[in-house]
Amino acid sequence: MEQIKLSEEVSLSRLVHGVWRLSDWGYSKTEIVKLVEQCLELGIDSFDHADIYGDYSCEEIFGDALKDEKALYDELKIVTKCGIKLLSEKRPDHYIKHYDTSAEHIIWSAENSLKVLHRDVLDVLLIHRPDPLIDMHGVAQAFTQLKEQGKVKEFGVSNFRASQFRALQAVLDFPLVTNQIEISVSALQEFDNGSIDLCQEKNLHPMAWSPLAGGQLFGSATHNSITLKNVLHKVGDEYGASIDQVMYAWLLRHPVGILPIIGSGKIERIKAAAEAMKIKLTRQQWFEIWVASRGESVP
Ligand code: NAP
Repeated sequence: MEQIKLSEEVSLSRLVHGVWRLSDWGYSKTEIVKLVEQCLELGIDSFDHADIYGDYSCEEIFGDALKDEKALYDELKIVTKCGIKLLSEKRPDHYIKHYDTSAEHIIWSAENSLKVLHRDVLDVLLIHRPDPLIDMHGVAQAFTQLKEQGKVKEFGVSNFRASQFRALQAVLDFPLVTNQIEISVSALQEFDNGSIDLCQEKNLHPMAWSPLAGGQLFGSATHNSITLKNVLHKVGDEYGASIDQVMYAWLLRHPVGILPIIGSGKIERIKAAAEAMKIKLTRQQWFEIWVASRGESVP
């Protein structure tokens, strides 16, 4: 599978595997190792975490499963996030869900991720959500310290508006390498709010979360989604492909070089995603899906 170069130091596989739902899958350590091996066989070597996934448990479950498989674990690239503080029995000092992008918290969170993941270095660390109380200089200070100490190779953000991205970049001495944003056939807002434009301007590859719209299109179709589903099936039939494959192909077709994050833990669905890389939608098919999602023709 194609590797996407985010910087001189870090490349990620074009498809990234996301482990937000890992604690729900109930996999044993052996099953997690097997899933990782199967991903690697497909060329998927990059895994997307966050400190908070699974109520602060997913990094630890993943790290515990892989720590004794050093050769395998060394092949992986790890992306993780920080900056959200959940209401959780594991964090009894939080009495409200909130954001914390203070330098102190970013450094503590990155070091904690390293510890529970059993890694020496994180490939990419992202600020999970824009924080209205953010001190951009404090974030830059934390990023610089973590980079100089060799604890994190590269940094990025998630769910940032273009203006927020620029504000952080302006006080940082090295480039942010990605913005992880919601993009799918059902989530088109980033095409209108400047995020995709900024990626094109800065030659950045956005990571797409919920690339299958969080699975919502697989249930019974609502009034709004029926046309979109019909078009996805129609286009899929032209390639002998399933609608999830068309949804991946739609993201992969965009010239900005989107990295979809696969959210399923089922290997057959991950294989289907990898197969979707062979599909190259025509411009008109891409627009057929765009128009069906928007519910109106382009002007
Ligand atoms: P997604 O692929 O859009 O949705 C995954 C869901 O769709 C799962 O429940 C999955 O069920 C279901 N699904 C997939 N293929 C299906 C099929 N063929 N038929 C029926 N159901 C199907 O991705 P996501 O999990 O929402 O997000 C992916 C990753 O993005 C996460 O793991 C996380 O790493 C990242 N993320 C980041 C943010 C952020 O703010 N930065 C937010 C959300 C997510 P099964 O598990 O049963 O396959």
